[in-house]
Amino acid sequence: MSAPSAACPVRRAGLLGRRLGHSLSPQVHRFFGDYAYRLHEKEPEEVASFLDRALRSDALDFLNVTIPYKQTVFALCDELSPTARQLGNVNFVRRLADGRLFGDNTDAFGVGRLLDAVGADVRGCACAVLGAGGAALTTRAVLEARGAARVTLVCRGETPAADDEVIVNATPVGMFPNADDVRLDIAAYPRCRVVLDLVYSPSPTRLVREARACGKKAADGLVMLIAQAYRAYRLAAGAADAPASTLFLYGPPASGKSTWGHRLAQATDWAFVDLDAEIETEAGRRIPEIFAAEGEDGFRAIERRCLARLCAAPPVRSRVVALGGGALLDRASRERAEAAGRIVLLDCPPETLKARLTGGDRPLSADAGRLEALLRARAAHYASFPTHLTLA
Ligand code: NAP
Repeated sequence: MSAPSAACPVRRAGLLGRRLGHSLSPQVHRFFGDYAYRLHEKEPEEVASFLDRALRSDALDFLNVTIPYKQTVFALCDELSPTARQLGNVNFVRRLADGRLFGDNTDAFGVGRLLDAVGADVRGCACAVLGAGGAALTTRAVLEARGAARVTLVCRGETPAADDEVIVNATPVGMFPNADDVRLDIAAYPRCRVVLDLVYSPSPTRLVREARACGKKAADGLVMLIAQAYRAYRLAAGAADAPASTLFLYGPPASGKSTWGHRLAQATDWAFVDLDAEIETEAGRRIPEIFAAEGEDGFRAIERRCLARLCAAPPVRSRVVALGGGALLDRASRERAEAAGRIVLLDCPPETLKARLTGGDRPLSADAGRLEALLRARAAHYASFPTHLTLA
C-alpha cells in the first residue's frame, strides 16, 4: 500500500459527531494528504439531512463518524462492509458511484494495530473489556477473531476477573479533562500482562502509566486513532497498488518527529526511518561524539550524505522518515527531499520543546538559551514549509 503522494486523490473529508472539541482527527489526517478535514457537530435530528447534503451531493469524499452516531449512520447506509455488518456500527461512510451510501468500520483495523503495537498475542487468553458501547463491541470482536479464549464485557460497577490476562479500557474514563480518573487499580491484577486504553488524550493515560509501572505491556489509543484514520484514507483513496512513497517529518529538536514517525509506522504498513540513527550507523558513533570530534560542519556533511542516499533510492515499501531539526537547512538537501516525498513540519510550543530537552545531550539545544537562539535563527526556514501540524 502507498503512503500519501502530492497528487492526493482525496480533497475533502470530515468527522461527524455531537461534541468534537477534543478531536485530534484533523491533525492526524494531515499525515496522509493535504485534504481539508473538518469537524461537523450535529444534533440527532440533523444527522440524516447532513449526510444527504455532505455525501449524496458529493461535497465530501468521505465522512468519519463518532459518538453517538455510529449506529444511527449504520441504519442510514445503503451498503455495508462485512465488518460493519458484523459490528452493527460504522465510523466511515462514503458515496458510491451510483449515489448510494457505503458504510464501513475502520476501528476494528485500529484495535488490531494497537494489539500489534504492544506485541500482544491474545491466543488462548482470558480478556476483559471495560465498557459495553461501540468501541467495546469492536474490541471484543477483534480479540475473538485473534483467538482469545474468553472475552468479557465489564459494565459500569463490575470489575474484571482475577485471572484476566488482557484488560482493555473502552470507556471515556481517564480522558481529558478528567485525566486523573481511573476505573480500576491495575496493580491488583498480577495475572494481567497487557493493558490497552482506547483513550488517547492525554497520552499516555493514567491507566497506561500505572500498568507500565507494574511491568505490563501497555499502550493508549493513539496508534488506534492513527490506524483507523489511515484505513479511512485508504478506503477513500482506493488505488491499493499506487507506488510506494515517502513522508518526511521535519521541525525543531524535540518536536516529536521520531515519536510520531514510530507511531505512524505502527499504525500503517509503512517502514520507519530515523535519519539520526542512519547517521550514527554511518559514522560508527553517537551524534554528541560526532559533534565533539568534527563539529557541526562534520555532522552536517554526514547528514547530507545519508539524506542524499535515502532520497536517491526509490522505496520498495512506503516509509516515514524522521529528519534531524536542521537537515533541510541545506538547499540541495531540501530540494532532494521535496522531490523524493512529502514534507510535514511539526510545530510545537517553545515551552514544550524546552521541557522535553531539559537534561538531554543534544549538542545544539542542550540548554534553554541555545534552544531559543536556534528557534530564532530558524524561524523563517521552518515557516517556509507549506504543511504544518501542531500535535503537542
Ligand atoms: P459509547 O458507545 O458511548 O460507550 C461508552 C461506554 O463507556 C459505555 O459502555 C458506557 O457505559 C461506558 N462509560 C461511560 N462513562 C463511564 C464511566 N464514568 N464509568 C464507567 N463506564 C462508563 O462510546 P464508544 O464509541 O464505545 O467509545 C468509548 C471510548 O473509546 C471513547 O470515549 C473513546 O475515548 C475511545 N475510542 C477511541 C478510539 C481511538 O481511535 N483511539 C476509537 C473509538 C473509541 P454506560 O452505557 O453505562 O454509560
